[in-house]
Amino acid sequence: MILTHRCTACGHPDYFHDRDNWCSHGNCRRHPPELNPEPELIPSFVMRDGVVVLDEELKMPGQRWLPGVRLCGCERCQEIFADRAVAA
Ligand SMILES: [Zn+2]
Ligand SMILES: [Zn+2]
Ligand SMILES: [Zn+2]
Repeated sequence: MILTHRCTACGHPDYFHDRDNWCSHGNCRRHPPELNPEPELIPSFVMRDGVVVLDEELKMPGQRWLPGVRLCGCERCQEIFADRAVAA
């Protein structure tokens, strides 16, 4: 699981929006991003024994997630991460 800010212009998560903050997803039209300030929890997946499975662990905000992709580490993401850590 990861926290992302979804772009309200195209519906893709923040990490598809590249260094210039333009969306790089598939055929998505390039546009300035309009990221929702409220982060959203979305499922992420890992390879386990050659099978793709749901990764239940919530990744820490701000950490490197995939090559070239760093998760958002804003205050709101940290807050939600901390809340879930307490609840778990
Ligand atoms: Zn977008
Ligand atoms: Zn997009
Ligand atoms: Zn954030």
